[in-house]
Amino acid sequence: MKASDRLSRIPPYLFAELERKIAAKKAEGADVISLGIGDPDRPTPPLIVEAMQEAVTEPQTHQYPTNRGREDFRQALSDFYARRFDAQIDPVTEVIPAIGAKEAIFNLNLAFLNPGDVALASDPGYPVYTAGPLLVGAEPVLMPLLPELGFVPDLDAIDEATARQAKLMYINYPNNPTGAVVPPGFFERVIEFARAHDILVVHDNAYSEITFDGYRAPSFLATPGAKEVGIEVFSLSKPYNMTGWRCAAVLGNTEAVELYWRLKTNIDSGLFEAVQLAGIAALSPDADAEVASMNELYHRRRDLVCEALAKAGVHVTPPKATIYVWAPVPDGFDSSVAYCEHVLDEAAVVISPGSAYGQSGEGWFRISLTTPDERITEAVARLASLSG
Ligand SMILES: *Cc1c(COP(=O)(O)O)cnc(C)c1O
Repeated sequence: MKASDRLSRIPPYLFAELERKIAAKKAEGADVISLGIGDPDRPTPPLIVEAMQEAVTEPQTHQYPTNRGREDFRQALSDFYARRFDAQIDPVTEVIPAIGAKEAIFNLNLAFLNPGDVALASDPGYPVYTAGPLLVGAEPVLMPLLPELGFVPDLDAIDEATARQAKLMYINYPNNPTGAVVPPGFFERVIEFARAHDILVVHDNAYSEITFDGYRAPSFLATPGAKEVGIEVFSLSKPYNMTGWRCAAVLGNTEAVELYWRLKTNIDSGLFEAVQLAGIAALSPDADAEVASMNELYHRRRDLVCEALAKAGVHVTPPKATIYVWAPVPDGFDSSVAYCEHVLDEAAVVISPGSAYGQSGEGWFRISLTTPDERITEAVARLASLSG
């Protein structure tokens, strides 16, 4: 069996060796704690589960959904955007439900890129920003997120020829993996750049609801002019502990939303209506208290992790958002992978090498806060006792 040329373009998996070591460590009987994956450990809040239970008993939800989505779910998304972000979204023309943000981000490549076109991708970044373009025969061009600019790309550094070929740009704030929030003025600069070069901006909004220290994250779509040049992918996965449910939406520019819908009608058959009804419950103000209590939990874990890292000689500014702590690899290690192997060997704790998220992630590592309290407490005690 031979993979298609398309599939063969995806680079070989670089972390196979690290995963083999994790498996070997577990096989030795070590009590391995994973702070690797970003997948909320807490269950979906009861009010959402109950809405689902009720919805699933309704036979009307059992048939094919439309790809356009239920009117009441689109209205709920529009109401949420108004209430939460002060952004106006037309529930008829500016929003389509998606079967998860990952699906949506991949499919946008199919909808908007021809072979040879360029997609500008944040580096480090969510892996689909590069795998998506590669799978459709286009070229991902990495935009390094510069720590000195607050982990945003330097748009002036993108050369004219690349900007001319670019059709899409992927950005993401609050950011995975860096935990960065958008610096003032950056969305405005992105809009200017996109206008000048006729680029569709895709803002991946997976973390706007997970914030700390009084910070409230904006939607890209609340920036004046954003809807002329861009769309936002909003996901219910992380804020509502719904990663398994596959519930997201594409919102913003009317033409782009319509083309995404046209593509989707040829690929899938829409989002299960019972999940859409559960999504309405999640987006209602009734769920705000649940989000607030999750944020308290992540805040506590964030501080535990940052304090333990400081004891191990790694100093980080606690992130204002997301479920991640992004930290520099201490001196004395050749690479992110070497440091992660050291932590695994010495502490039996799994952390993610920054290079897993792109070449600009080299020299960094990521800790996810989605591990139960008693395990994270044990993991940070082991990290704190590591010599720096
Ligand atoms: C987790 C994550 C997603 C995936 O969201 P789903 O809706 O579960 O597919 C997308 N983007 C970023 C940046 C993420 O961290």
